Amino acid sequence: MKDLLKGKIAVVTGGTRGIGYAIVKKYLEAGASVALCGSRQQTAEAALERIKEEFPDASAMAIWPDLTDPQSVARAFAEVKDKFGKIDILANNAGISQSTALYDYTEKEFDDILELNIKAVMVCSQAAARIMKEDGGGVIVNTSSVVSLYGQASGCGYPASKYAVNGLTKSLARELAKDKIRVNAVAPGIIRTDMVAKLPDQMIQPLISRIPAGRMGEPEDIANAFLFLSSDLASYITGAVLSVDGGVII
Ligand code: NAD
Repeated sequence: MKDLLKGKIAVVTGGTRGIGYAIVKKYLEAGASVALCGSRQQTAEAALERIKEEFPDASAMAIWPDLTDPQSVARAFAEVKDKFGKIDILANNAGISQSTALYDYTEKEFDDILELNIKAVMVCSQAAARIMKEDGGGVIVNTSSVVSLYGQASGCGYPASKYAVNGLTKSLARELAKDKIRVNAVAPGIIRTDMVAKLPDQMIQPLISRIPAGRMGEPEDIANAFLFLSSDLASYITGAVLSVDGGVII
């Protein structure tokens, strides 16, 4: 594992905590240089500090573009290229979830989830692919969700947005293969992060009891899948949505 990503440059959105933070650590352990993206300067720099404490020799930087703004993302990714020379890997991981009932949804709430969970994936993929293409290729890995396959009983914007992530993944895999860019997604099950901690107990407990593996997933379980799909071990895999969910069928 140690040198699996040696010499590679990775950008991880939503890299400040939870699954994204685990991906940042996994990539660093595998020898990559990493730009971690946060939603604000303060949280991005604080996460970078934590990384530097754990990995004193880490080749890492923090960026905090508005992921839904093409200019802002292009500027931030250009900074990464200036510092590290290229971008080989983009982990499109930033996302929000919702559990609002259909009757209570506001237009803004629905727009917010589409903006971050879908538009940002497209905007970041476009900016990264432009750089990757120039440098001979790369890998994009998106964070989908198991609910993209089964739906969920409230918060319809979330599974709808992740279903769209699967669509982007499969379409961009076909479109970008000629530029030697692979595009895959990981569909996590129920993973122990802040996102799950804030969901109502009556929504989560029944789901956990139906996980055949008998436990909730850990962020590292998902980071391992990102590592595999980002590495040359997966060089013939593109357009895949890999479920990492302990076998759950919701
Ligand atoms: P989390 O809430 O701990 O982390 C979310 C990350 O997204 C944070 O780093 C946060 O800064 C970032 N983010 C949120 N809003 C942002 C914004 N407006 N701009 C930029 N960044 C923003 O949640 P997590 O569980 O680590 O989620 C990571 C990804 O995994 C998400 O895409 C989520 O949908 C997906 N996912 C999580 C689970 C789970 O059970 N935890 C299951 C399936 C999919």
